[in-house]
Amino acid sequence: MTYHPADDRYDSMHYRRSGRSGLQLPAISLGLWQNFGHNRPLETQRDILRRAFDLGVTHFDLANNYGPPYGAAEENFGRHLAADLRPFRDELVISSKAGYDMWPGPYGNFGSRKYLVASLDQSLRRMGLDYVDVFYHHRPDPDTPLEETMAALDHIVRSGRALYVGVSNYDAAQVRRAAAILADLGTPLLINQPSYSMFNRWTERDGLLDALEEVGAGCIVFSPLAQGMLTDRYLKGVPAGSRAAAQEWMKDRLDETALARIKGLHAIAVERGQTLAQMALAWALRDERMTSVIVGASSVAQLEDNLGALSSPAFTDGELAAIDEYAVG
Ligand code: NDP
Repeated sequence: MTYHPADDRYDSMHYRRSGRSGLQLPAISLGLWQNFGHNRPLETQRDILRRAFDLGVTHFDLANNYGPPYGAAEENFGRHLAADLRPFRDELVISSKAGYDMWPGPYGNFGSRKYLVASLDQSLRRMGLDYVDVFYHHRPDPDTPLEETMAALDHIVRSGRALYVGVSNYDAAQVRRAAAILADLGTPLLINQPSYSMFNRWTERDGLLDALEEVGAGCIVFSPLAQGMLTDRYLKGVPAGSRAAAQEWMKDRLDETALARIKGLHAIAVERGQTLAQMALAWALRDERMTSVIVGASSVAQLEDNLGALSSPAFTDGELAAIDEYAVG
């Protein structure tokens, strides 16, 4: 059936400017890391993407190796784009990345110009795109000179393969250096993509938001729900089909201490009249310098629950202090 997006798709979403750039992103973006591989039904993927766009989610976050197998999420996204979203390309911000393991040998990983340019060309082919809106270096590379990686990003913009560039998993010091090199080349750093949630607060200790503000870049965080732990998913055990059921390390993390913290946070959310997922997202967005949070969703219901965060009440000082009792990470 032909897809007609909702006419009111821009009515409830909030858009936030990425640093001092011209680009605004939805406060909640959708990531395609785990739920868009060849192991997930195409209909479910399609329904999630359609519902997201209907609700004002204009930004879809991908990477070369999202799947499984590697490349599958981009391939499937390309399918859904061709079937549904192609007429709305100019309403979309599509991101991809390279920096982690992608293909064998010395040119399929980390941060060389050789890897980044070849990988983006592959991503574009898989998605059926002429360009991505944002291309990221996915993680710092301890061995390649940062000058080479940033020059590759500059080249990628100048060659028309991407409109903007970002970095991911860079700390405050690395962001300052990367932004300075890019500024010299004439291509501004758009954004950094770190992990951040109530269970993972390294960016606060690192002063990352201050560094990003200084250089005029935005911040978009991944795993704001701690991969599902900051939702009602695990309140009554580990359900079949959940991410924790598939990943031993995550199941191990859901010990009694973690569950007590999740239950404590859940009780605060209930007091505020919202779900834990909604509170966790509103909390991650409480600093206005935070441009967006990227959520994952394995169903339309999860996506809708998450987007409910947009109508969250503001946090009182008392609530923030109560959350701090459990949000240690
Ligand atoms: P989240 O923390 O949002 O976790 C998503 C998972 O949580 C879902 O797959 C689902 O798990 C569960 N979930 C989500 N919403 C709900 C809900 N309302 N109720 C119950 N359970 C829920 O984010 P991800 O870890 O998936 O990361 C988000 C995106 O960030 C990725 O898709 C990717 O684009 C990006 N990312 C970037 C990285 C980087 O290095 N730059 C690294 C990791 C992610 P279940 O499957 O069990 O249903």
